[in-house]
Amino acid sequence: MSHTASLANAPLADPSDGGAVHSSPTFAFEPNANPIAANERAAQLVNPGFGRVFTDHMVTIRYSEAAGWHDAKIVARAPFTMDSASAVLHYAQEIFEGMKAYRLPDGGAALFRPTANAARFRSSAERMAMVPLPEELFVESVRAIVRQEADWIPDIDGGALYLRPFMIASEVFLGVKPSAEYLYAVIASSVGAYFKGGAPAVTLWVSQDYTRAAPGGTGAAKCGGNYAASLIAQAEATRQGCDQVLFLDAVERRWIEELGGMNIFFVFDDGTLQTPPLTGTILPGITRDSLITLARDMGLTVREEPYAIDQCRADAASGRLREAFACGTAAVVTPIGTMKMVDGAFDIADGGAGETTSRLRQALIDLQRGVAPDPHGWLERVI
Ligand SMILES: *Cc1c(COP(=O)(O)O)cnc(C)c1O
Repeated sequence: MSHTASLANAPLADPSDGGAVHSSPTFAFEPNANPIAANERAAQLVNPGFGRVFTDHMVTIRYSEAAGWHDAKIVARAPFTMDSASAVLHYAQEIFEGMKAYRLPDGGAALFRPTANAARFRSSAERMAMVPLPEELFVESVRAIVRQEADWIPDIDGGALYLRPFMIASEVFLGVKPSAEYLYAVIASSVGAYFKGGAPAVTLWVSQDYTRAAPGGTGAAKCGGNYAASLIAQAEATRQGCDQVLFLDAVERRWIEELGGMNIFFVFDDGTLQTPPLTGTILPGITRDSLITLARDMGLTVREEPYAIDQCRADAASGRLREAFACGTAAVVTPIGTMKMVDGAFDIADGGAGETTSRLRQALIDLQRGVAPDPHGWLERVI
C-alpha cells in the first residue's frame, strides 16, 4: 500500500505551529507476519492477569526537529533496536500513560476519557522538557490500536485491553540537555481484574523514610523516574506484609499524598469524602477526577483538602473515619482496610470494603462498560 507509506512519511504535525495536525493522521500498516493464532489467543484470554499478555501489534511515531512528528505506523510488536547512547537510557527522559478499552454490551469497544489522557501526556511531556505529541494524534493512535486489536479484549469479569502509550528520548548523545529526537509508541495488553476476587481490602505501609515527590519536582508528571524512585518503598511495604505503600509529603512528612500508582480517598461518618488536593506533588488521576464528579452526582460532598496521617489515625480510632479507598485505571477502586507504620497498625472501621466505596466502584465500572448512562460524555466508542 504505497499511498499509506508515503503519507506516513509526511510530517503529521508542524512543530512551528504549536504541533497542529494538518491532516487526519494516517497510520501505515505493516501487519505482523506471525500473529498469535485465534485458539492460542483465546487460551491466553481466559486468565490474563495484569501486564503479561501482549497483543500482536503496536503503534510507533517518530519525532525529529527536521521532520516533526512523522512515520506513524502500526507494526508487529517487537523489540526496539536502539543505540546504547540513546538519551533515555542515561537520563530517563521518559513518560507514559495508562488507559483501558472496554467491551460494550453490543460487542463494540470504547475508551474512557481518552482526551484527558492526551492532555495529561502533553503536560507530562512539558514537565520533562520533551516535545509534546499533539493531543489529536495521541487520541488517534490509541483509537487505531484498539481498532486493530479489539479481538484481544477479554470477555471476562473485569477484563479490558490495557493501553500503554509512552515516549522516550531517542537522540544519540551523552550531553545533558533535552533530546532532539523522540520515539512514541502504544502497546496493548489484555488484562483481567487487577486484584483477584474483585476488590478485597488492601493493607498500606505508611512510608516514613522515603518520599515520592517534592514541591517543584516531577510528582504530577507520569514519568518512569517517579516509579523507579518509589520501588524501594514498595519493597519495604512488601517486607512489612503490606500490599501497597502510602507516601507522605516530602516537606513535613505529615500530609497524606498518594500510593505509588493510585490516588486515595477517605469517607467520614457524616457521609462526606475527602482527597488530598493537587498541589503539584500528586499525580492528577483521571479516576480520581471521575470519582469526585460521580460522588457529587450522587449528592455527596467531596473536599479536596490535606489530611494528616496523625489525624487519620485519630479519626480511625474515634470512628469518625469510616472508609478509605485507593483508585486508578488499573485497579479501579480498591478498599483500604488497614494502615501500618513504624509505631503500629490501625484498621479503618472493620477493615473491610465500605458501602460508599462499593457504590462508587460499581457506578464507575457500569459507566465504563456502557451499562449505565453517561451524562458527562466520558465514553468514546471506537468500534
Ligand atoms: C497513573 C497514576 C495514578 C492514577 O491515575 P489514573 O488516571 O486514575 O489511572 C495515580 N498515581 C500515580 C502515581 C500514577 O502514576
